[in-house]
Amino acid sequence: MKLNLFDSHVHSVQSHDGQSATGELCAWALDHGVMGVCVTDHFECDIPDQQADIEKTLREVALLQEKNKGRIRMTRGIELAQGHLFPETAAGLLDKMDFDFVLGSVHCATPGTDIGVINFNDPAVKVSQVLESYFQSSYEMAKQGQFDAMAHFGYPERYIWGKYRIPVNFLPYEEVIQETLRLLVEGGKGLEVNTSGYRQGLGKTIPVLGILKRYFQLGGRIVTLGSDAHRAEDIAADFDVAMDILTGIGFQYFAFYRERQPVMLKLI
Ligand SMILES: [Zn+2]
Ligand SMILES: [Zn+2]
Repeated sequence: MKLNLFDSHVHSVQSHDGQSATGELCAWALDHGVMGVCVTDHFECDIPDQQADIEKTLREVALLQEKNKGRIRMTRGIELAQGHLFPETAAGLLDKMDFDFVLGSVHCATPGTDIGVINFNDPAVKVSQVLESYFQSSYEMAKQGQFDAMAHFGYPERYIWGKYRIPVNFLPYEEVIQETLRLLVEGGKGLEVNTSGYRQGLGKTIPVLGILKRYFQLGGRIVTLGSDAHRAEDIAADFDVAMDILTGIGFQYFAFYRERQPVMLKLI
């Protein structure tokens, strides 16, 4: 039985790469004692064919919540990517729909191309340029602040090391990382601990331990847990490991969001 587990980053089949219907996500979570799931389908502001029908997801989630009241908490989310490049699109979405949780993501180093599809074996691709542009974009997104928690901060490593086994050094970006974290803390924004790296060859959380420590040292206390599951079976995967890492740093609580406000739960 998994107690006190809330997964704040799960995709349904409405995402271009999702495999499970919202009902399947809910049923799996109920069967495995997961207390809550936030469905965060993709909306890539700069990639029109990767924009889920968010209104449909929200309707389905609300129905599931109603049907399973008192047994599980299903919350209405979105993974809003590259929102800082399209502030009006982002603002329009956030105005139009009622969200519990807005996960802010940067997936692209160059608009329109997810870092996950770049061929890092191509000599024309410069890892340093991708990282530089990624961290700068993350900083811009933090500055703009149209989200509740920043998703998978350090995302390129999932592919550069996780898939291509090219070592990644974050040292040259220390300053921009620090400033991004400072903006998050000052803005009362959360930082996601994404566990997908354990299933995708990276073997660690995103962000890495050093970045989580830095957020804590700067006064950040709002961490959400996200499996980034694209199928029901991956919900809350490796949350035990993530919780141990967080308690090791000094965190006592993690958060999920309800009506855009963090609700703190004890780390177990
Ligand atoms: Zn993502
Ligand atoms: Zn995701």
